[in-house]
Amino acid sequence: MEKLNQLYEGKAKKVFATSDPNYVIVSYKDDATAFNGLKKGTIAGKGEVNNRMSNMLMTMLEKQGIPTHFVKELSSRETLVRKVSIVPLEVIVRNVTAGSLAKRLGVEEGITLKRTVLEYCYKDDALGDPMVNEYHILAMGWTSEETLRKIAEYALRINDILKAYFKGLNIDLIDFKLEFGITSDGQLVLADEISPDTCRFWDSSTHEKLDKDRFRRDLGGVEDAYREMMRRIEGK
Ligand code: UDP
Repeated sequence: MEKLNQLYEGKAKKVFATSDPNYVIVSYKDDATAFNGLKKGTIAGKGEVNNRMSNMLMTMLEKQGIPTHFVKELSSRETLVRKVSIVPLEVIVRNVTAGSLAKRLGVEEGITLKRTVLEYCYKDDALGDPMVNEYHILAMGWTSEETLRKIAEYALRINDILKAYFKGLNIDLIDFKLEFGITSDGQLVLADEISPDTCRFWDSSTHEKLDKDRFRRDLGGVEDAYREMMRRIEGK
C-alpha cells in the first residue's frame, strides 16, 4: 500500500493516508508532551520503542480475541493500521493508586485497589480532557450504550491480559489509557497505542518507574526506562 499525504500531526504521532481509504500509516515521533501540552521535550528512541511495543501488545491481544486497528509493522517507526473514527473518550484502567487518582482522592500512590477502576475522560484538549461518567457519555451521544458496554468489557479483559503478561516480566501494571475506534464497516476496535507513554509500569521488586512519569516529573533516566521496557519485552 502506497504512503500518501499527511492527514494529521498529533503530539506523539503523524498519520498518513494510503492508496486504500480504509487504511492509514502512523509514524511515531520522539516528541513528548505532558500536562496537556504545557511541558514539551523529546525522548530519544521513544518512537521506536512505542511503535514496537504497541504492535507487539496489540498482536498479543488480537490472539486473545480483542479486535485492534493493528495491521502490519512497516518499519521501526511506521505501522499500517485500519482507519477508524475515534470514540472521543480516554478509557483509563487502574489497578494501583497513582497520578490524578491519588491527587483527587488525597491518598498516596502505590495502594493496590480492592477492584479495578474504570474512568472515562472526554477527549478535548481545550477543556483539558475532563473526567465524565456513563451518564454524560450517553446524554451527549458520544457513543451508544451498546458500544460503551463493549468498551468497558474489552478494557477489563485487556487489563487482565496485560497485567498477567507484565507480571511475568517483573513489572506491575499500575494504570493505563486506551482509545477505541469504529472502522468503516462499523467494527469497534482498540486503537491508538499501548506504550510507556500511556501506561504506568513499576518494577515489581524495586518499584522503580519505567514509564513517562520519569519525563513528567523530571526523574532523569527517561531514555533508559523506555529502553529497559523494550529489553524486557524482547526477553533480552
Ligand atoms: N494517560 C494518558 N494520556 C492522558 C492522560 C493519562 O496516556 O492524556 C495515562 C497515564 O500515562 C496513566 C493513566 O493514563 O498511565 C492514568 O493517568 P492519570 O489520570 O493519573 O493522569 P496523569 O497523572 O498522567 O495526569
